[in-house]
Amino acid sequence: MAESAVPSAASPQAEPSPAPLRLPIRDIVPWAVLAVALAAILIYFVGAEQGATSVFGGTWVHEFTHDGRHLLGFPCH
Ligand SMILES: [Zn+2]
Repeated sequence: MAESAVPSAASPQAEPSPAPLRLPIRDIVPWAVLAVALAAILIYFVGAEQGATSVFGGTWVHEFTHDGRHLLGFPCH
């Protein structure tokens, strides 16, 4: 006998419910701290690595991040 693709009302099959998503904070915090630190370093080099706040001598960092500086709206020249 062929099986029907439509489940019959006489024998409803319960759909297995998916396991709830668990986000362990202890596993996320170190990566979040790392991401914030890297973002802060990136924002510093793009936005403030020039003139009196310059860490490295010369203008190579400024020139390397110049397009990003203008893209993000930091004052430049
Ligand atoms: Zn510029």
